Amino acid sequence: MLPRLEIDLPALESNTRRVVETCRLRGIQVWGVTKGVRGCPRVGLAMLRGGVEGLADSRLPNLIRLRQALGDPSLMLLRPPSPAQAQEAVGTARVSLNSEILTLTALGLAAAARKVEHEVILMVDLGDRREGVLPGDVLELARAARRERSLRLAGIGANFACFGGVLPTAESLVELVELAGRVRMATGASLDTVSGGNSSSLPLVIRAAMPAGVNQLRIGEGILLGRDPSTGEPLPGTRQDVFRLEAELIEVQRKPSAPCGPVARNAFGRQPVHIDRGDRLRALAAIGVQEIGAGTLCPASGGVEVLGASSDHLVLDVTAMEPAPRPGGRLQFLPDYGAVLALMTATDVCRQYRE
Ligand SMILES: *Cc1c(COP(=O)(O)O)cnc(C)c1O
Repeated sequence: MLPRLEIDLPALESNTRRVVETCRLRGIQVWGVTKGVRGCPRVGLAMLRGGVEGLADSRLPNLIRLRQALGDPSLMLLRPPSPAQAQEAVGTARVSLNSEILTLTALGLAAAARKVEHEVILMVDLGDRREGVLPGDVLELARAARRERSLRLAGIGANFACFGGVLPTAESLVELVELAGRVRMATGASLDTVSGGNSSSLPLVIRAAMPAGVNQLRIGEGILLGRDPSTGEPLPGTRQDVFRLEAELIEVQRKPSAPCGPVARNAFGRQPVHIDRGDRLRALAAIGVQEIGAGTLCPASGGVEVLGASSDHLVLDVTAMEPAPRPGGRLQFLPDYGAVLALMTATDVCRQYRE
């Protein structure tokens, strides 16, 4: 049996509704981020039903998939396009996030050629050190956007907690709101959107600490997994089990927990660390790094511990399981964001949708 990933669409829709409602009370619109599920249209549809403003993804092929399946939803390209992607970007997305003058020029030309208006949100790096210009350079970028007649300078935005793990704070978001004010003054653009980050900004909204003026968030993990990615804490009123993975056991045997023999690097070039806990009941499930990538799995039932994975084997301690499992039995796991991404991308996984 192939590993089976079940995706609970009503639970996903309910998570979406909860996040959208929480944000709406603070005047914040939510875009649903689908990059964690490779732009899966069924997930996108559940997010739209849950009330998101539009769908956002970092990759053009994912956005094209969404567009082909769902008609004409509002689409946002999250990862700044390269100049060479300008034509495809304006042909696919209504709005894109940007940080380079060269790309704005290319987007302007491409939009003019297509006789469409393309919206741009200018990204500012407020400390996470991934995409975005430094605050001092945003005016120059805004002027470049204003020079392109086929571009609409829709707003400015920032991203947090993705590369540097830098958390959004009330202070950094006040800075974003102030920068928006300065750009409005200097360029005359209405600059409707102040896009205040991803799921890691949700705790600020929940604590009523989000500065006024921030009116958009781009939310993936908070909807898909019902968690604040920066702490892993569940978000109030959401479910954490939208994605459930089932894998088959291929071996269940009592073995010493410590390895025997000289220890060197394992299949992934790392030196494993073993704790000697005496003899334990161990199980192997038929799933591995090929399906879960760099992600991790959390057992969905008690008495199971995940010890690790090689390419094709998940190694488990099942000593505490009652009754003891048998080969051919199946165990369920809750995948984290990285594992969901890999499971949605892997070929030999059976994906089933609960409608
Ligand atoms: C991935 C991403 C998001 C969504 O992040 P989550 O933590 O899943 O909410 C938002 N904005 C940008 C620019 C992203 O790359």
